[in-house]
Amino acid sequence: MTAQASSTNPPAASPRKYVPETEGLNREFFENCASGTLHLQHCDECATYRHPPRYYCQHCFSDRWSWEPSSGQGTVASWVTSHFTVDRGWVDELPYTTVVVELDEGPRLLGAIRNMTVDDLHLGKPVRLVGEPKRDDFVFFWVEPLEAG
Ligand SMILES: [Zn+2]
Repeated sequence: MTAQASSTNPPAASPRKYVPETEGLNREFFENCASGTLHLQHCDECATYRHPPRYYCQHCFSDRWSWEPSSGQGTVASWVTSHFTVDRGWVDELPYTTVVVELDEGPRLLGAIRNMTVDDLHLGKPVRLVGEPKRDDFVFFWVEPLEAG
């Protein structure tokens, strides 16, 4: 009997993480974030923030909106720890934990934890999203504790 293929083993590490091509409203979102400040769409009619980017407000259906800076602060809404990756750029960081952050403005965004461990997480934990520009049109988001401890 031959050994099974190593399909459950992670691929060899790569120095680069996959960075997707962006277009349309997603490209605008990431270009704004690459400035160093998280920006969200803000409805000019009803003042609702939204994410992911879209052309119409989900609350009042207005097509009038603008990009507004966000505090980047929010709380932990959920998380998952990945023990396998198909992106060789993440192999050295396995297992890594991705968090859903509910921003103070309302929308939820994803990021990987940094400067804390999964044992530090709990629902409602105050955190901040920190953007790490990978190009002028793409940003990785890290989730860091808002306060020590
Ligand atoms: Zn609206």
